[in-house]
Amino acid sequence: MENRFKDFWERPEVDWHEKIPHHYHVSQVGMDHSNKDASEHYGPCLRQSFYRILDPIPEAPSSRGNLFMGNVLHEIMQTEEKKKNPSSIMEFPLYLEFERNGQKISISGSVDIVDFERNSFPQLVNVIDIKTASSYTLPRTESEKNPTYFAQAGIYAYILQNFYFNNALIKVNKVGIRYIDKHNAGVYTIDIPYDNTATKKIFDSFINRCFQLDAFIGTNDLPQAEPMKWCKYCTYRARCTADVILEEGVPSFSMKMLEDMYKKFTGKNAIWRGNYTKAYKDYIKAFKIDE
Ligand code: SF4
Repeated sequence: MENRFKDFWERPEVDWHEKIPHHYHVSQVGMDHSNKDASEHYGPCLRQSFYRILDPIPEAPSSRGNLFMGNVLHEIMQTEEKKKNPSSIMEFPLYLEFERNGQKISISGSVDIVDFERNSFPQLVNVIDIKTASSYTLPRTESEKNPTYFAQAGIYAYILQNFYFNNALIKVNKVGIRYIDKHNAGVYTIDIPYDNTATKKIFDSFINRCFQLDAFIGTNDLPQAEPMKWCKYCTYRARCTADVILEEGVPSFSMKMLEDMYKKFTGKNAIWRGNYTKAYKDYIKAFKIDE
């Protein structure tokens, strides 16, 4: 069935991986989670985004492999969704520009699935983001629901509802996360009703953070660390030295490895200060050390 909104949906796609100056992707910045315990959210952290943009460390092969597999599973899921509901739209690109006190930024994102509800008027749509999960990361209870994922999908829904849609004709109804559990070949959806007033707070926080990050990049000042659940896997732990969360399953490092890393990053030998080297002092908060 031909989608009757097709013309409306034609927008240019922006590849944020190209690192366009002053341009930020929704998944790159996210909303402020400082009201939450670090174990309750998954970032993204402004300091991490700053490092990724200005001085990136290449991803480990295992991370690249996970990303690749995630993309493959995304596509499979989208193909299945399209078969079930041919009028739904996959990877719908979003793009907006903002200016504040002379500072100009642009933002983009891509909605995994815009799902059109049948027989509704105004036309109701559900905004769905697909996430690949493992047995370890799949939420099993309401409290494990990742607020970062819902914030991201909510921001997409807010942009559609307030910047793209004519609300007399079309409205967002629900925001959902479709989890693909890659270890158990299961698919699970958590939907929440869309609330425009509540989501405005999330969107405003996201835009403020984009302006903040842009200003930090402009002055080359390091943003605040925002410790979170996945600090233990953050590629920038060694530079950050925030008081990150260490849990079981965190790889441990020998002092020799840390000293080599210190030399690589600073160009200096790790100097002994009393009982400890400078590398130990700098990295003790960020790494689990072999005894
Ligand atoms: S270790 Fe944690 S706080 Fe530091 S940059 Fe990485 S994510 Fe942010």
